Amino acid sequence: MHRGIYGKNKREIAELLKEHGINPTTQRVEIAACLLACPQHLSAEDVLGRLNHEYEQVSQATVYNTLRLFVRQGVIRELAISPDRIYYDSNTSFHHHFVDVETGRIHDIPAESVQTPVVNFEAEIHEVSVLVRGRLNQAEA
Ligand SMILES: [Zn+2]
Repeated sequence: MHRGIYGKNKREIAELLKEHGINPTTQRVEIAACLLACPQHLSAEDVLGRLNHEYEQVSQATVYNTLRLFVRQGVIRELAISPDRIYYDSNTSFHHHFVDVETGRIHDIPAESVQTPVVNFEAEIHEVSVLVRGRLNQAEA
């Protein structure tokens, strides 16, 4: 588990970005701080909404470009869960997802819950990514 990356202070986040080859500008640090507060799944709109609550000056283009940069440099993972919205996962360790069709909420499924499928052709499997859609039972919600 990458527990260590969450809840870092601004200086530590700047260091983390540098380790990923990213120049830690003030806005990039703010965006990373928002995402890396805890393991979570946020859309670009979610990030923008949270930032603009405190920082009026962060533009939509900056947020979109920064999120793409973070994905490229391995700071966060991109999730193709819905065709009209990209979600960003602050947990880059290997795991799967469950989407609640009623609330749209995304829940993590531990990697060990899913077995690597047996394929009927010669292949070296690099990654298995399972997306489960369903509805949480009321009692568990
Ligand atoms: Zn996740």
